[in-house]
Amino acid sequence: MKHIHVKIPGHEIEIPYLHYKGKGSDKICVISGGVHGDEVNGISLVRKLIEYCNENDIEKKLNGELIVLPVCNQSGFENQTHHVSYDKKDLNRCFNKKQKTASNLIANALEKYFYSKADLAIDCHDSGKRHILLPHTRVHTHEDQYCTNCTREMAKAFGSKIIIERKGKRGMLAIEMSKKHKLPILTIEIGGALKVAHKHLEKGLGGLVNILKAQGFLHGEPRVPSEQFYLKDRFGVPAKHTGVLKLNKKLGSRVHMGDQIGSIYVPKKAKTYEVISPMCGIIFSIQSVDVAKEGEIIFSILEDRKCHKKRRMTSGMVEELKNIKM
Ligand SMILES: [Zn+2]
Repeated sequence: MKHIHVKIPGHEIEIPYLHYKGKGSDKICVISGGVHGDEVNGISLVRKLIEYCNENDIEKKLNGELIVLPVCNQSGFENQTHHVSYDKKDLNRCFNKKQKTASNLIANALEKYFYSKADLAIDCHDSGKRHILLPHTRVHTHEDQYCTNCTREMAKAFGSKIIIERKGKRGMLAIEMSKKHKLPILTIEIGGALKVAHKHLEKGLGGLVNILKAQGFLHGEPRVPSEQFYLKDRFGVPAKHTGVLKLNKKLGSRVHMGDQIGSIYVPKKAKTYEVISPMCGIIFSIQSVDVAKEGEIIFSILEDRKCHKKRRMTSGMVEELKNIKM
């Protein structure tokens, strides 16, 4: 294991990495996990990739170089937190910033040693402590058409049924490094709630290998699914009460406006309230704990705008999504 050393106020920290050097091309692909310390599925997906590389003697097969970062935010991982422990900041909002806080310095070091030299990158996440997400990839779009198109190609090769395209925010790895270094970065999201989703990670590893094949780092034909769905965004549904939550719909379920999704029992009133879906679509994320707090998101829906008001099953696109098996 190799390390880079980063000086932050009051500490010097190490960021571990593995460097697989193939022959042929000098293209570099960086694959990272643990930018958010509480995202064990991103970390576990990278672990699977490392095991795959070691078991398959990857350097002999690799056309180019592969740099793997098993955990970018070690302090967050140790404390099971999303943010970096030294300054309580989200590392994925700290790229390309001038201020010298711990998180900005870590982001700058990652940029200097890895992302500024890379040709493409993949960043593995999950939904954090409180929610579980349907596996999907995120393409952050911006003016640079090369980056957007290449990231779309990676998303296609990864092969998850759902691809979300969105604009992204200032300070994000995927946004800032694309802007500054013309680096296409795909974000992968699998699972959440500090639970390792082994079944999905197996598919996730297949997806990473597929990307490496599609981008010419490994030989072989990538297997791309026949149907994928590009979606813009999800709608978070906040709890109307504080109480004990029971959700009776599963992740990936088709729901319609007015459907009962579950209930919230409010102990101080000894009363149970229904949780009703405000729209038609697919359940995209659900809260992992059975307590609801008024105003906080308990589940989210990928909206099917063609199926509104009337409970008709009109949209072929969303109907197809119904068949996702969780
Ligand atoms: Zn994350």
